[in-house]
Amino acid sequence: MSRILLIEDEERIARVLKLELEHEGYEVHTKSDGRTGLDAALTEPEWDLILLDVMLPELSGLEVLRRIRQVNPTLPIILLTARDAVSDRVSGLDQGANDYVTKPFATVELLARIRSLLRQRSLQDQPAEQPHLLKIDDLSMDLKSRSVVREGTTIELTPTEFELLRFLIQHQDEVMTREQIISEVWGYDFVGDTNVVDVYIRYLRQKVDKPFSSKLIQTIRGVGYLIKVESSPEDAAGGDVPKEKPL
Ligand code: CA
Repeated sequence: MSRILLIEDEERIARVLKLELEHEGYEVHTKSDGRTGLDAALTEPEWDLILLDVMLPELSGLEVLRRIRQVNPTLPIILLTARDAVSDRVSGLDQGANDYVTKPFATVELLARIRSLLRQRSLQDQPAEQPHLLKIDDLSMDLKSRSVVREGTTIELTPTEFELLRFLIQHQDEVMTREQIISEVWGYDFVGDTNVVDVYIRYLRQKVDKPFSSKLIQTIRGVGYLIKVESSPEDAAGGDVPKEKPL
């Protein structure tokens, strides 16, 4: 479980955000001023990510950022900034913040940025196993620039669609169940209706398959989905049965 330190003095935002992040499966600790926030950032071990408000009492968020960076250059930090505070964002990025969101922000956007940073961090941990360019057939996906191109055409995906495609391509030729997709892409033990997967597969097909002649995303009825290079009709007649993962 990833541990997130939230340094935010606005009690309502801190409370709501903590709940939402916990709902997503993160362990969240909150501090409400720059001084105790910095202390927690530096003295408690093993934070996976810090969410840092810029306008804080005691020590400003930018000062907290500067002091964390002096001792920890790689810890992922996302700034929470006011919409009109362009100079804060610029100084924040200059001082080594990884990303920012402007208030008021949509939680889904923040969650996508958190997932992205945590993933980059895990990629850094295992650079050899996790290339940043994924390919299947004539489609390529750049995890760093977050761009998707098929037959030379750039495809615009939402963050969730992007994660879904990434997951399928990383497991190409393997059938993924709805539950596996939910827990990886939505990032928590989903208790509701797994039909959300079907909905997003439909969105993804509209963008990734429909405009092109060959179809990559396949439905395995009663099991889930997989992505693979479409076999020619002759191959299909030969009974090219996809390997199923044990459930
Ligand atoms: Ca504030």
